[in-house]
Amino acid sequence: MSGHVPVVIVGGGQAGLSMSWSLKEQGVGHVVLERHTVAHSWKEDRWESFCLVTPNWQCTLPGHPYAGDDPTGFMVQDEIVEYVESYAAAFDAPVHEGVAVTSVEARGVGSDPAANRPAGAARDSSTAPSAADVVDGVLAAAPEGYVVRTTAGDLTCDAVVLAVGGYHVPTVPRMAERLPATVTQIHSSRYKSASPLPDGAVLVVGSGQSGAQIAEDLHLAGREVHLAVGTAPRVARTYRGRDVVAWLHDSGHYDMAIEDHKEGLGARHEANHYVTGRDGGRDIDLRRFAAEGMTLHGRLAALDVDGTATFAGDLKRNLDMADAVSERIKDGIDAWIAAHGVDAPEEDRYVPVWEPEDDGGALVDLHAAGITTVIWSTGFRSDWSWVKVPAFDGSGYPTHHRGVTSVPGLFVLGLPWQHTWGSGRFAGVARDAGHLAPRVAAVTAAATTAG
Ligand SMILES: Cc1cc2nc3c(=O)[nH]c(=O)nc-3n(C[C@H](O)[C@H](O)[C@H](O)COP(=O)(O)OP(=O)(O)OC[C@H]3O[C@@H](n4cnc5c(N)ncnc54)[C@H](O)[C@@H]3O)c2cc1C
Repeated sequence: MSGHVPVVIVGGGQAGLSMSWSLKEQGVGHVVLERHTVAHSWKEDRWESFCLVTPNWQCTLPGHPYAGDDPTGFMVQDEIVEYVESYAAAFDAPVHEGVAVTSVEARGVGSDPAANRPAGAARDSSTAPSAADVVDGVLAAAPEGYVVRTTAGDLTCDAVVLAVGGYHVPTVPRMAERLPATVTQIHSSRYKSASPLPDGAVLVVGSGQSGAQIAEDLHLAGREVHLAVGTAPRVARTYRGRDVVAWLHDSGHYDMAIEDHKEGLGARHEANHYVTGRDGGRDIDLRRFAAEGMTLHGRLAALDVDGTATFAGDLKRNLDMADAVSERIKDGIDAWIAAHGVDAPEEDRYVPVWEPEDDGGALVDLHAAGITTVIWSTGFRSDWSWVKVPAFDGSGYPTHHRGVTSVPGLFVLGLPWQHTWGSGRFAGVARDAGHLAPRVAAVTAAATTAG
C-alpha cells in the first residue's frame, strides 16, 4: 500500500462492499481494505446452526438482491457467506484482504507539522489535530484529506468510509474474572456448537438475539441449560398469516428514520428483538423452553470467587416485558390491517405457556448445579480508537447524520440504526450507501479541483 487513492473504504463486509458498488457506479476510484477476508464476521463470528433472522427477500445489497428460490426463508451460514462473497466477485470489488487499518488521521490540520508529513515518512506518536483546530467537536477547517496507515503500508486519500460494523469488541462483565478456573467461559461470538464444550450444564448469560438462539441450540442438542434472562424484547415470527417482518415492511416501519423513533437516538443501543429463522422460522418462547426443562433465572447480578452465582429477582418481569413488546407489535399490525382494510385471517393472541414459581432471584452454586461452561451473550462495544479524527461524541460514538460525520470527508456506513432499522442489516444498507455515494463523490471532485 502506498500513494494516493481518492477513497479508502475500511471493512470488507456487506457495508464496505455496498459502498464499493455504489462508488463504482459514480466512477469514483477507491480501495476496500479488509483485515481478514470478505464476509469475515459471517464466517467466523457466528455458530454452526446460524441462520438469518430476517427473511431472504430483505437481502437487497445494491446491484445484488437475493436471487434464490426461497425468498421467505432464512439463509444458513454458508449461504450467507456465499451471498456476500459472490457480491464482491460480481463487480470485481477492489478489495485488499489481510490489510488492517491501524489509524486514520486527518491531513492539513493540527499544530503538529507531522500531520502534513507524506505517507510512509517517519512519524512520532501523535498526528491528531490539536484542541485549537476543533470547535464544538467540529474541525474548524476541512482536512486536506487523510492518511490511512495499514499493516501493509500507508495511503493518502480524499475521503474515508468506515464500514467496520457495529460489533467491534465482545463485552464481558468483569465479574467473569471471578469464575473458578474449572469453569470454561466463552463469549457468544466464539460459540460454534454444543459438542466442543465440556460435558455438563451450560449457563448462558443474556437473552438477546445471540443468547436466546444459543440457549435454543444447546437445548435442542440435549444439553442442560441455565439461562440468565435479561431485558431484551421479543417478536413473534408470524401473525395473521404472514411473517411479522412482512407486515412491518408494508406498514412502512422500516422506512422510519431514527429521528422519528419513539426511543430517539437511544434506539441505536437497544437490544434486538429475539426470534429465529431456524427450520423455516419460528418464535423463540423462553417459557416453552422452561416447560421443556431449561432453567430460567433473572439477570446475573454477581459471581463469587467460590463459584456462587447471584441472580436478580426480575425473571417474571423480564418475561412479561418481552411478551408485552411482542403483543404491542401485534396491536400495531392489527391497527394497520384495520386502517387499510386488508383481508387477513384473525389470530388468537399469545397465552403464556409457563409461569415462574418465584421471581427467579436465587443463589446458585455452579459446581453443585453441574455447570461447566458459561457463555457470555452480553453484546459488544465499539472501538474507534484508531480513528484519530475528532468526529466522536462523549460516549465515543461517531457524530453523524445519515453517515455523514461532522468532519468533512469522513463517513460511516453499516451502523445499527444509522438511519433506519435496516441500516446495520442486509435490508437497509443499499439505501444508506446510495445516500453517501454522491456525497463521497463530491468530496473527491472538490479535492481534484483544488489539487
Ligand atoms: C449474531 C448476529 C446476528 C445477525 N443477524 C442478522 C440477520 O438475520 N439479518 C441481517 O440483516 N443482519 C443481521 N445481523 C447484523 C448485520 O447484518 C451483521 O452484523 C453484518 O455482519 C454487518 O455487516 P457490516 O459490513 O456492516 O459489518 P461486518 O460484517 O462486521 O464487516 C466489517 C468488516 O470490517 C473489518 N474491519 C474492522 N476493522 C478493520 C480495520 N481496522 N481494518 C480493516 N478491516 C477492518 C472486519 O474484519 C469485518 O470484516 C446480525 C448480527 C449479529 C452479530
